[in-house]
This record gives sequence, structure tokens and C-alpha cells, in this order.
Amino acid sequence: MKVIRRIFWWGIFPLVLIILGTLYYVSVQFANLKFDDNFPVSKDYTAFFPDNYQDSRNDFQHLTRDLSQTFQNVSLNSYYVPSKIDYDLTVDVCYIPAQKDSSNLLILSSGVHGVEGFVGSAVQKFFMQKFLTPELLENTGVLLIHAVNPFGFKHSRRVTENNVDLNRNSPSMNGLYETQNEGYPRVYDLINPVGRVDKSSIGNRFFFLKAINEIRKASMPVLRQAVLQGQYQFNEGLYFGGMNPEPQIDKLKPIIDIAMEPYKKVLAIDLHTGYGERGKLHFFPNPLSPEEKIRMELLFEGYTIDWGDSDNFYTVTGDFVGFMAARHPGKEFYPMLFEYGTLNSQKTMGSLKSIHIMILENQGYHNGYMSAEDSVLVKADLLEMYYPQSENWQNYIMEQTEDVFQTILPRFTE
Ligand SMILES: [Zn+2]
Repeated sequence: MKVIRRIFWWGIFPLVLIILGTLYYVSVQFANLKFDDNFPVSKDYTAFFPDNYQDSRNDFQHLTRDLSQTFQNVSLNSYYVPSKIDYDLTVDVCYIPAQKDSSNLLILSSGVHGVEGFVGSAVQKFFMQKFLTPELLENTGVLLIHAVNPFGFKHSRRVTENNVDLNRNSPSMNGLYETQNEGYPRVYDLINPVGRVDKSSIGNRFFFLKAINEIRKASMPVLRQAVLQGQYQFNEGLYFGGMNPEPQIDKLKPIIDIAMEPYKKVLAIDLHTGYGERGKLHFFPNPLSPEEKIRMELLFEGYTIDWGDSDNFYTVTGDFVGFMAARHPGKEFYPMLFEYGTLNSQKTMGSLKSIHIMILENQGYHNGYMSAEDSVLVKADLLEMYYPQSENWQNYIMEQTEDVFQTILPRFTE
């Protein structure tokens, strides 16, 4: 008996303590979203970042009016998005046609994932003030789409009021809404828990253990694809692509069609945040044909494009840029996504953290929260994930944005 007790005290007990300590440490790390950003920055761009959707839209409209003083035929159109709770949601479109030769068109869109519109609109505003020069506009038209998902921007959700992810909802092929995501039912329970959100429950504190168990059973690339691809079956689930095009997608069709019509070359950049290495601007297109790939490599020479050849990559159905490309199949089209990384989701811990934040927010939106504190914390986490408050982060991503525009615009318009 004594021997057994001794084995327990000197053998198993410390081991259990170490395991518990490690689990506690990892769970605290897992819940912590703070980063000591120390990126090298030399300028202050923080004034471009908006406080809310309304201010951002006001700035966008003012800037468009300013541009109409300088350039010919500048147009601003606001399209209302129907809502059950909010009568002031618009997608705003600024179009500046090429002033002499209609050779190239640049499309820059923000807020396809509503809450990502804070950063996307900051980039648009910066672009409008810095890059819309008479030289550029001589042979290049510019179409700026502000807040494709204004509901999500205003109410800090990724998705629309109908829970639809617009980057899974934009049709470029027939039968999009009948697409079967074979892997999704397998991850359904993990990513769509039932009941109200209790952030401090054991299941949430140790979410990473549950998730790692799933990764062990499948594999990270398989799970990533199943989760992120988009699904058309579960209307309250994560990454729901809808049953029909959302109203703004239908409304944007003729605008995009007419704007693209006169041009030979079209570069469409859709602005996103939340995926990838923190502070890094990722170039992240959906897979392209070999010719398109070569064109893109030339345009972005000197930068690393995240092609679909790494484990971190996933493909989506119903993406917004692909939808634009399909409107005019004959054009020389350059479809691109800019992704500004926030939580190091290229690593397992970061990607689990990201998905956990999305799970809790979606669960809370549909099922409610156990406490007001849970609601505040979960919403704050989601906002921070897509709109980091770190000024160092904000300045660093803008510096990279300035650099890439400076490099690619002359190439694109030459
Ligand atoms: Zn996004």
C-alpha cells in the first residue's frame, strides 16, 4: 500500500500537475489576443482608419465628390440593401472612367465580409487620396465599391443579415447554391455548437483540445477545406453561402457589367482581413488557369503570391472576384485578394483561435449569450480579429499597401 502511495506522490501526481499546468497555460495563451507588435514603420496612416460604418461611408462620399471636381464624369451611386432592422444600409459605388483611352480598369472593393470593411475602406480612402492622379486616369478607369456588406460592417459581423457569407454567395457558375460540401457535415458539430454561449465553459476553455482531436482524426488541410470552402445547406451555420444571390450581388451585376465593358484589361482587388500571418499583406487569389497565373506572376513580380500549393491554402466557391471575372469572360482579367493577416492563422494555434472566435460569435448571434459579459467579450474578440486596434499593425499594413500599389500600378497601366 505504501509503495503504491509513494508511486502516486512521486510519479503520477507530479505528472498530472505538469499536464494540468500545461493545459492551463495553453488555455490562457489560447484566450489571449494580445500581440507585442513591433513592425518597422516610418509613417502614420492611422487617420485613414474609420470609427464606424457611417463615418467611413461619409468619407467615401466626400472623397468621390472631391474627385468629381478634378476629373470628368465621376459618378457616385448608393444602393440600399433591404433589412428588417436597419433602413440606412447602402453599398456605395464610385466610378471614375478613364479620361482619354479606355484601356484598363481597376476595381477595388471593401467589406464583402462586413466587419473587414474597417480596414478595406481605409485602404480605399488612402488609394483615392494618393493614387488617383491624372497620369493614372488617362488610360485607366477606377471602380471603387464601398461596403459590399454594409449590415456586417455596421453591426460587426462577417456575414449579411441573412447569415450569408458574400464571398461564398457570388455566383460565377450555374448550380452554385446546390454545391455539396462533402466535408462540412463532419465538422458541423464542432463549429456550430447548440445553446447559449458560455465563454468560460470547459468546452470553450479547452476548445483547442477538441479541435486537435478532430485534426488527429482527419488532417488539417482536409478540415480547413471542409470548413472554409463554403456550404449551402445550413442557414445558421458558419460559411453559409445562401440559397440565392443576396440583394446587393444582384444589384451590382449591371454596374460591374457596364463599367467593365469598354476596357481590355481588368484588375480586381478585393480587400480582406483576418487570414494569415499577423501584419503581413498576403496576395491570395483563388486558383487560376495557367495563363492567368503567368500574367499575375508578372504583375506581382517581386512579391510572393499564395498559390494553392501549400497546406495552408483552401479554395472557395462563390467568391466575389470570381463572380466579377465571369461577368465578362473575354477580358484580360487579374483577380486578386489582399488579405491582411491578424492572428497568425497560418499556424495551428492561430487558425484554431480564429475559428473559435467565429464559432462563438455565430453561436451567440443565433442562440444568445449566458451573460452580458460574454456577449461583450465575444464581440470584442471578433472585431479585434478583423480590425486590430494596434496602430503599429495599421501603419505597417498600409506601408505595404502603398509599396505594392506603387509597384504594380505602372506595370498594369503601361
Ligand atoms: Zn474576408
